[in-house]
Amino acid sequence: MSGPARALPQGAPLDGSRLKIVQAGDPVLRKIACDLTPEEIDSPAIRQLVGWMKDTMRDAPGVGLAAPQIGLSIQLAVIEDRAENLRAATPEQIAERERREVPFFALFNPRILLFSEDTAEFYEGCLSVSGFGALVRRSLGVTVEYLDENAQPRRIEARGWFARILQHEIDHLNGCLYIDRMEPRSFATSDNLARYWKDLPVAAVREQLNLNPR
Ligand SMILES: [Zn+2]
Repeated sequence: MSGPARALPQGAPLDGSRLKIVQAGDPVLRKIACDLTPEEIDSPAIRQLVGWMKDTMRDAPGVGLAAPQIGLSIQLAVIEDRAENLRAATPEQIAERERREVPFFALFNPRILLFSEDTAEFYEGCLSVSGFGALVRRSLGVTVEYLDENAQPRRIEARGWFARILQHEIDHLNGCLYIDRMEPRSFATSDNLARYWKDLPVAAVREQLNLNPR
């Protein structure tokens, strides 16, 4: 019988506490990840793994990392949007994305109970589709239920950029990548994104790409 616990890493990562991030095309990114039991969540092995994922996410750097991205098909993701990430963005970008600091946390077996009807479209990237970005339309708000690091049930109502991060990471746990949801004509290398598109309002991007106004 195979269980999620059997999929846990047996040893320390090869490179300090950083894990290898798998790239698009790896089958693990397309699987629906297994739920963890409360006993598995509240175990030294998982606590160790959460610590490694935190270091890996910060090193990348990223604002979220899901277990399938480090090759483990389990329902675990970590999220953190640090103050220093916000300092790299302009006040206008922070305001229009409704972006604010999110302290580090891990979520297990998350489910999105509610998607808001209002949506927003912004450029998004993924550590597993390294070197690219595209416009992705997502709900502005979500209600999520999950188990925390002590296997206690939690519910959050998130808005803005935090809601987007949650949707992106929970998609990973269900075998979905942002490229499944992107506006294909907006797909760009990170270099070209920085060069041509990053600082334009989304309406102007859509116009230049001959996309219908939304
Ligand atoms: Zn991703």
